[in-house]
Amino acid sequence: MTAENASAHVLVVLDAPADAFRKAQLELLDAGRFLGTVSAAVAGPVPDAARAQLAEHGVATVYTPSGADLSDYLVGPTAAWLADVVAASDADASAGGRVTTVLLENSPSGKETAARLSVRLDAGVVTDVVALEADGTAHKSVLAGSYEVRARATTPVAVLTVKPNLDLSAAPAAGGAAAVVTVPVPEGSLATAARVTGRTQKPRSGRPDLSEARVVVAGGRGTDGDFGPIEELADALGGAVGASRAAADAGWVSHDLQVGQTGKTVSPQLYISAGISGAIQQKAGMQTSKVIVAVNADPESPVFEIADFGIVGDLFDVLPQATAEIKRRRA
Ligand SMILES: Cc1cc2nc3c(=O)[nH]c(=O)nc-3n(C[C@H](O)[C@H](O)[C@H](O)COP(=O)(O)OP(=O)(O)OC[C@H]3O[C@@H](n4cnc5c(N)ncnc54)[C@H](O)[C@@H]3O)c2cc1C
Repeated sequence: MTAENASAHVLVVLDAPADAFRKAQLELLDAGRFLGTVSAAVAGPVPDAARAQLAEHGVATVYTPSGADLSDYLVGPTAAWLADVVAASDADASAGGRVTTVLLENSPSGKETAARLSVRLDAGVVTDVVALEADGTAHKSVLAGSYEVRARATTPVAVLTVKPNLDLSAAPAAGGAAAVVTVPVPEGSLATAARVTGRTQKPRSGRPDLSEARVVVAGGRGTDGDFGPIEELADALGGAVGASRAAADAGWVSHDLQVGQTGKTVSPQLYISAGISGAIQQKAGMQTSKVIVAVNADPESPVFEIADFGIVGDLFDVLPQATAEIKRRRA
């Protein structure tokens, strides 16, 4: 995918960063540039480093709120403000006038914002987007990842929530500073809004974020509680560690690492599943991975039905060999 449709005005919604935007947020800007001319909406302060990233990624206009920092609230006021941003974009002739497509992250808050915004705009909404065509047609993963369908909103504005690691090549950005436009927070929208009163930083593992990682190595009940080989392979590949619900429920790893219907949805380039049977609820969270490698002692395990490469064997034999070979080749 390499096209760009100059007549489309794409608004990319980004959470306000502490310092710089994350990889998945920058990918969303590239997805916007793939579809047309990009503006960004950031519901809180934009630090200098982040502002420079917006310019590098071809953002023509950045909309920010005046009157309140909306990142201090849950999503209601942000959705109301975004509807006003879309209305204000009428005046942005340099970007082609009114926004035609809104892109958000496929996170729980991204999806909730999309739903509220689409009600306000009377816009079609497509979630779980795994690929885009230049005319705005979205490929969406459905039925626990068993099928991929093509969907296109027929409303004047389309709202899409996009999974990380989208495989597309947008044209290089032209550069130049993004014009900043402030749009007031709608009157009364904060009166009944839930406010965030405190945040606690999670301890960092040093590994990439599970939802955004290009490589995920996940372990299940077959690890019998020893995630050592999983972590070592993940580290050799620069990947994140994931887990089945059985492993998380057993307390072997934190529930943050659970992949699946009631855990995180991941879409990496490479997903290595070790000691996981491949129940439908696990598949729901990882089936859109580009390449799936399964290591399981049972040749009849359902995980092999979706694996691109399957290894029947004991994970405690197979994974350390793979880790050693990767380290040897990288040395
Ligand atoms: C409403 C609902 C929501 C759910 N949500 C999720 C979810 O989000 N994520 C999720 O994962 N599950 C979820 N589940 C649970 C799901 O149905 C399965 O029970 C769970 O995924 C099983 O985890 P597992 O594959 O690790 O364990 P098991 O099914 O016990 O499989 C263990 C596997 O390890 C293999 N094995 C054992 N020893 C070794 C070894 N030494 N080397 C290699 N292989 C070995 C076995 O052959 C087996 O295939 C949900 C269930 C329900 C009802």
